[in-house]
Amino acid sequence: MGSSTALHTSAPPTALDAAALRADFPILGQQVDGSPLIYLDSAATSQKPRAVIDAEVGFLTRANSAVHRGAHTLAGEATELFEDARAAVAGFVGAAPEQLAWTAGATAGLNLIAYSLGNATAGRGGVASQALALRPGDEIVVTESEHHANLIPWQELAARTGAVLRHIPVRDDGTLDAEAAASVVSSRTRVLSFPHVSNVLGIVNPVAELVALGRAAGALTVLDACQSAPHLPLDLPALGVDLAVFSGHKMLGPYGIGGLYGRAEVLDAMPPFLTGGSMITTVTLDEASYLPPPQRFEAGTQPVSQAIGLAAAVRYLDGIGMDAVRAHETLLERRMRDGLRAIPGVRLLGDADGVARLALSAFDVDRVHAHDVGQFLDARGIAVRVGHHCAQPLHRRFGITASVRASASVFTTEAEIDALVEGVSEVRAFFGVDR
Ligand code: PLP
Repeated sequence: MGSSTALHTSAPPTALDAAALRADFPILGQQVDGSPLIYLDSAATSQKPRAVIDAEVGFLTRANSAVHRGAHTLAGEATELFEDARAAVAGFVGAAPEQLAWTAGATAGLNLIAYSLGNATAGRGGVASQALALRPGDEIVVTESEHHANLIPWQELAARTGAVLRHIPVRDDGTLDAEAAASVVSSRTRVLSFPHVSNVLGIVNPVAELVALGRAAGALTVLDACQSAPHLPLDLPALGVDLAVFSGHKMLGPYGIGGLYGRAEVLDAMPPFLTGGSMITTVTLDEASYLPPPQRFEAGTQPVSQAIGLAAAVRYLDGIGMDAVRAHETLLERRMRDGLRAIPGVRLLGDADGVARLALSAFDVDRVHAHDVGQFLDARGIAVRVGHHCAQPLHRRFGITASVRASASVFTTEAEIDALVEGVSEVRAFFGVDR
């Protein structure tokens, strides 16, 4: 669509040269059905720069060994690289190394938290953890915009403890209903867990306000930073949340690795979820005592090469500079939303203006199923996500079962956004529903 280009000719240049960065991502060189690949599915999983692939391969070919055990040279090197990786990833989110436990990803991190609170409720973890115990009638609050990963673990915890699960509603424009939030969160709230950015709406939620609400209620605040970590400068201690989770594979890093961040006193009070090797001090046949955090939450052999790959990913992002990433993606966001919202028959989910957003838009095309839109775009080499994006309650709230989601990354160019907009603008004519 020519009009969307015209809207942006005066946009200021950014420090980031996306076209040049593309050379760092081997996968982007390929064609799909004769068209260059336009990868707009980074919210599902990000592509990996060569630096990440090389870091993992380099570790596996030169230093692979079990960490924290063994007196041999390789074990020492591997342990050093593993703990350096922890420091790098913790630093990326503003935290100290001991505030970061490795997990398998955001889903694993959220389940870890919910199961740990369940164990505290069951009396595990001693006196310190009793402050985290839930009693029947206590409340857990989430939002209507949750990814299932930040919903189902809390449903299960509520079922196990007799707590009540409540939610903060989403308004028609996609923002959280602040007035409702102020009444849903009360002195009964023990946990307030919410996404930094919904993986469907792309809106950056008002973390400071929500944390203040949670704190005033005496609740534990949990942030799902899965979508924000690759796109925003992140300082978790400054945000004031008690706990936060993120996934490596969404932030240019490997699969099977993620982070659980916590305030020191909260992590200290949390009983372990998984138990076994590497997280203990003393074990007898009858009982065991546990290491302090973060090792208390790292039972079993850890994803060492993945941790090293994730450290390479955050170093890569830091090398670009998260302010530059944010500035580039803000331009893409405006271009994508302005272009899509101008197309007749296209409805953006949560189209609020005047709020901070990521370059991520989910939309519905009138009388064309999301899967058909996805296939139509795929024939032009454009990869988008279709379906409910693991957010069924949010789709139900907007009266649909599926949507199309386009999500950008550091390597996305404005020309690619224009190709998306042009493709979507032709969908209804192709399916004969534009009359
Ligand atoms: N939270 C949000 C907001 C997400 O977008 C996702 C993944 O799409 C998750 C949690 C779960 O992440 P993972 O599947 O990497 O555990």
